[in-house]
Amino acid sequence: MIPGTSVLRQVPAWQSQLARAITGPAELLAAAGLGEEWLPAAQAAARLFPLRVPRGFVARMRKGDPHDPLLRQVLPLAEECLTAEGFGADPVGDLAAMTVPGVLHKYQARVLLTVTGACAVHCRYCFRRHFPYADANPAVDRWQAALEYIAHDHSLKEVILSGGDPLTLSDRRLAELARQLETIPHLRRLRLHTRLPVVLPERVNDELLGWLGDTKLKPVIVVHANHAQELDDAARQALAALKNAGAELLNQSVLLRGVNDSVEALADLSEALFETGTLPYYLHMLDKVQGAAHFDVDEIAARRLMQELQARLPGYLVPRLVREVPGGPGKLALT
Ligand SMILES: *Cc1c(COP(=O)(O)O)cnc(C)c1O
Ligand code: SF4
Repeated sequence: MIPGTSVLRQVPAWQSQLARAITGPAELLAAAGLGEEWLPAAQAAARLFPLRVPRGFVARMRKGDPHDPLLRQVLPLAEECLTAEGFGADPVGDLAAMTVPGVLHKYQARVLLTVTGACAVHCRYCFRRHFPYADANPAVDRWQAALEYIAHDHSLKEVILSGGDPLTLSDRRLAELARQLETIPHLRRLRLHTRLPVVLPERVNDELLGWLGDTKLKPVIVVHANHAQELDDAARQALAALKNAGAELLNQSVLLRGVNDSVEALADLSEALFETGTLPYYLHMLDKVQGAAHFDVDEIAARRLMQELQARLPGYLVPRLVREVPGGPGKLALT
């Protein structure tokens, strides 16, 4: 604790966990039980997009295995420094779609707010790794413009909080935003896209459950797990608590080479999610962002995987395979 701050305000446990995340390549390699030979590349790649991973997520990795599906999502690799044909800085056209700072209105009836640039974990495949968050966040003075935009467009039924990860914001700010959104009569649902219940289950505390349970809007929480191994007991309990508070739980994943590009991994993930009351929603094709080409699974292989998955699972456990297309009316369904 920083001396002199304790009298002002108690820091919630999840915020200390967030602050204690591993950010150094050497520390991650040591925690994962890997040798120094991985270090130079990890340091070089971490200069392009900083490393960040909560300790609790690292604890779920198989030690000494460079192919561990959780480690692959967070360890910076030499491949990130290569330039690949067809991979760019803004692959989904987010900058063109930004009407008001922080407001992404690409699809009918729902609007996405990038409420923060911060994430608890830095996923190496992230399409936002080059995103200029400093210009995109509705800071205190710009918040009003986003709310006015939403209040004026009566076709909007749903507000999606995204980022970054919206649950890195304090419950005080989130509860205040929820209260302001509640006063807009045409809104029905408040959706949050977040990795925190999975990567930092401590985030799901009484304050969060309190305002979520109280809001007049129907809460929808889209978590983001890519592999069944991410869902340890703490993550499962966090999801159960969100469900008990009245939230609808969905999951989206990204299809990632070397992480979940097998029918076994995808089927196990769907089964594990269902046990927590979470339904598989989307399986995203990788957005073609510079530095992530080594995660790409081609469309033919992806469609074949989906056919096998459909044969193996009940329909409600099969996510929709989608691709983000700049300028499209929605995500493009591939299956
Ligand atoms: C993905 C996305 C949405 C939500 O799309 P759904 O199909 O409703 O999940 C909304 N706005 C933007 C900008 C998006 O990228
Ligand atoms: S949590 Fe989401 S926005 Fe943040 S780095 Fe991971 S994929 Fe990207």
